[in-house]
Amino acid sequence: MKDTPAAGHNGLALHAETLAISHGYDPAMVGGAAKPPAFMTSTFVYPSAAAAKELHQAFFDGTTTSLSGHIYGRLGHPNLDMVEKRLAVLDGGEDAAVFASGMAAVSATLLSLLSPGDTLLHSKPVYGGTDMLVNQELVRLGIRPFGISDGVDEVAMARTAEEALATGPVGLIWLESPANPTAAIVDIPAAVALAARLGARQGRKVPVVVDNTFLGPFVQNPLALGADLCMTSLTKYAGGHSDLLAGGISGARELTSRLKTFRTLVGSTLDAHSSWLLLRSFETMALRTGRAEQNAATLAAFLQRHAKVGSITYLGFLPEGSREREVFERQCRGTGSTFSFRIKGGEAEAFRFLDALRVLRMAVSLGGTETLICHPASTTHYAVPRERREAAGIDDGTLRVSVGIEHVDDLIADLSQALEAI
Ligand SMILES: *Cc1c(COP(=O)(O)O)cnc(C)c1O
Repeated sequence: MKDTPAAGHNGLALHAETLAISHGYDPAMVGGAAKPPAFMTSTFVYPSAAAAKELHQAFFDGTTTSLSGHIYGRLGHPNLDMVEKRLAVLDGGEDAAVFASGMAAVSATLLSLLSPGDTLLHSKPVYGGTDMLVNQELVRLGIRPFGISDGVDEVAMARTAEEALATGPVGLIWLESPANPTAAIVDIPAAVALAARLGARQGRKVPVVVDNTFLGPFVQNPLALGADLCMTSLTKYAGGHSDLLAGGISGARELTSRLKTFRTLVGSTLDAHSSWLLLRSFETMALRTGRAEQNAATLAAFLQRHAKVGSITYLGFLPEGSREREVFERQCRGTGSTFSFRIKGGEAEAFRFLDALRVLRMAVSLGGTETLICHPASTTHYAVPRERREAAGIDDGTLRVSVGIEHVDDLIADLSQALEAI
C-alpha cells in the first residue's frame, strides 16, 4: 500500500489516514465530546412551527445538509451525516450517500439512474448480487445488459458499446475492478473516455460507476480516474470487523442527491448504530488494509509454490509486460488482500481442504480482521449459471480467501496442514 494523496480539510491539506480519524465530526457540535455519540432516535423535535416549515422546504428543495436540520431518521440523521462526510473525503467525492448495505447502494444506483428501454454496459464478472439484479430484475424492467468481455481491450469495449447502442440508449456503465473473485482488471479511464463519446452521440450523459469494494479508498480512487460514482460495500474493508452491513456511493452531489431521494423512498438508510460503528472503523482502516495486504503477499507466495495449488489470481502476480499489469499499476496503489486460487482437482478436493482448516474460517464476505475462505462456485456464485461462472474463471476447484490481520505464521501453518490433508 503506497502513500495516499492529500485532500482538503479546514483549509489544510491532510492525508487520507488523518482524515479517516477526524473528518466529519466536530467536538464543538456536541458539548465537547471527544468522540461522536450515537444519536439513537427515530425522529427530531422542531424548535417551532415556522422552523418545521422551513426545514421541510429546505429538505424537499434540496438546500439543507446541516447537522441541525433533521426531520426523521429515514431521511437522514447526524451519525449518517458524519459517515457520509468521511466517506466522501476518502473517496475524493463532493458528497456521499450511505445505505443499509452494499446491495442497497447498488440497487439505488441502477434503479434510479436507468429507465425502461435503456441498455447497460458492465464489466465481467460482477458481484453475484449485482449479477442477479442486472440479469433478472433489470431485464424484467426492460433494461438490457451487455457484458464487456475484456476490460483492458478498448476495441472490444467499443464493440460491445455499439451492440448496446443498436438496441437502445446506453444509460450507464457499471465496472467492477478488480473483480470479485477473479481480480480481472478494467481500464477505468478508457471506459470513461468511451462514456464521453457515447454521451456525445446519443445526447445523453453516460455515468460511469465503479464498484471499488475489492480494494477500497486507500488503494484505489475511481473518482480521481474519471468515474462519476464510486460504490463501496462498506460491509467489507471499511466496516472491517465482519459485524455490520453498509454500502456507500461517492461522487458529484447532483448524482448522490438523486440516490438519497431514492433511499428515502425505499427506506434503505443506514441506522445510527451502524453509522457510528462505521465511523469508528474508518479510523483503523489504513492500518488494517496495510497489514492485511502484507499478510496476503506472504500467503500468495506460499500458495504459488505449493504442489497442490494449480493457479492463483493474485494482483501481485499479474504478468510483467501484460496490458493488465500496466493498467493495474496505473490505477491501483496496492495489491489488496483478497484473491483466489485453484486447488488441483475439483469440488471434492476443495471441500476436503476446507474442512481440514482450523484457523481460517469458512464463510462468505471479505475485508474483516479475520481470514475468511469460501468456495465461490457453491456459495457466492451459486446463483450464477455455470457457463457464465466458468467464463469468468470460477470453476469447482476455485477458492477465495480474504486475508485478515492475524500473525501470518499461524495462517501459513494452517494452510499447510490443510493442503496435506487433501
Ligand atoms: C459484498 C459486495 C457487494 C455487496 O455488498 P453488501 O454489503 O453485501 O450488500 C457488492 N460488490 C462487491 C464487490 C462485494 O464484495
